[in-house]
Amino acid sequence: MSQPLFRTPRGTNDVLPEDHQYHTYIKKAVRHRARQAGFKRIDPPMYENRAVFERGIGEHTDIVEKELFLVSSKQASDESTQFALRPEFTAGICRAYVEHGMQQLPQPVQLFSIGQCFRHDRPQKGRYRQFHQFDFEIIGLKDPSLDAQLIQVTAKILEDLRIRHRLTLQINNVGNSDNRTEFCQALKDFFIGKERNLPELDQHRLQHNPLRLLDSKEEDTQILLKNAPKLEQFVDDESRIYHETVLEYLDTLGISYVKNEGLVRGLDYYNQTVFEFWDNSTGAQNAVGGGGRYDSLIELFGGQSTPGLGVACGMERIIWHMKEAGIQAPNKDQVDVFVAQLGPEAKKTCLKLITDLRDAGIHTVGALGEASLKSQMRLADKFQARYTLLLGKMEVKESTIILRDMVAGKQKQIPFKDTLKTVKKLLGEKNLDTYSLTDHLGNVIDEGE
Ligand code: AMP
Repeated sequence: MSQPLFRTPRGTNDVLPEDHQYHTYIKKAVRHRARQAGFKRIDPPMYENRAVFERGIGEHTDIVEKELFLVSSKQASDESTQFALRPEFTAGICRAYVEHGMQQLPQPVQLFSIGQCFRHDRPQKGRYRQFHQFDFEIIGLKDPSLDAQLIQVTAKILEDLRIRHRLTLQINNVGNSDNRTEFCQALKDFFIGKERNLPELDQHRLQHNPLRLLDSKEEDTQILLKNAPKLEQFVDDESRIYHETVLEYLDTLGISYVKNEGLVRGLDYYNQTVFEFWDNSTGAQNAVGGGGRYDSLIELFGGQSTPGLGVACGMERIIWHMKEAGIQAPNKDQVDVFVAQLGPEAKKTCLKLITDLRDAGIHTVGALGEASLKSQMRLADKFQARYTLLLGKMEVKESTIILRDMVAGKQKQIPFKDTLKTVKKLLGEKNLDTYSLTDHLGNVIDEGE
């Protein structure tokens, strides 16, 4: 075995072909549910002005304080560190909403995105430095029915992927920003004289982002919090009613949930509704997705006061759940036909035949090198080809070809001119992988990345 000189950087992964089957499957479900519910795709750049994240997500959140990857160039100047890789999609999409004047469009504007995000986290299972999210945003209209619908679209995707039963929807309402400011002050007051009993990290949180104490995993903090003021005491009536209505709509849609008064989420921009999909067995640790309402974010980017709501799910964690649940993503990379040949004449004929087979929607490999027919057959076996076509010197002379059924282990000689027709028939018309940009109505088929 050769020794690799380089490996992927810590916390990053190659998405190998076997994992791509899962990625493709998830993207299909996302695109399908997005189309059904009127979401349109947007791809913000992978890096933005770092202020988009610093201001949008919040200076004192873990994501900005510790996990932002700054982008620099070899001609490092002051300007080059003004960018950062996106740690999530919401801030970039809101920036785009303002930049492209989307407030002129019919509201709400519903957008979705799929792609890589980057966080300089300490790598561990389910926590990477480069990972994939799919993301949905509803901007420009506020109504509890939209909160419920966004949760429903997410739940449907998780159902499509057959992992919804492994997850619990946790939901809370964190009130408006005034409520939170008052609550944070009350928390700070409560902890006066008790700071030293808090673990170091939580002392820092108390100073800069007291709300985060609520979802602290530290036992000491949780014990102290038992007697501390509660967020729900500060949530105003409007938010309370809003929350009850969201829950009522979730009931109407048959979506089960757990009311979780400790759920706050790590990002500053949330107000009122927040939710997460937790792993039934490990809880908050490896949430598969989460989101909430952000009614002041658009204003922060220079837009008019505009409500917003979003959700993001992590694809690596979804794939982990699918594998745990024994769900196999369909493999569409199978080899239908392996073409084996011997002699220069046969090789030339096969090159043309391979093209014709591929154009007909048949997955075909072959005519590789000058190996003996026997070793080509071994290769066909290794590729797990369904059929092999063999063209030797004799067959070229006789205008025939040998067709071997690799499963049955039987073969027959057929006229060369019938090759395409015969293979198509054997595979079945509906299994052919034909690709066209338009469907029978002339509509563009959206099956791209
Ligand atoms: P967040 O908005 O931080 O809750 O992220 C939304 C989802 O993205 C999480 O529920 C995870 O599924 C996924 N996610 C966040 N950070 C990471 C990470 N470092 N590695 C893998 N997945 C992540």
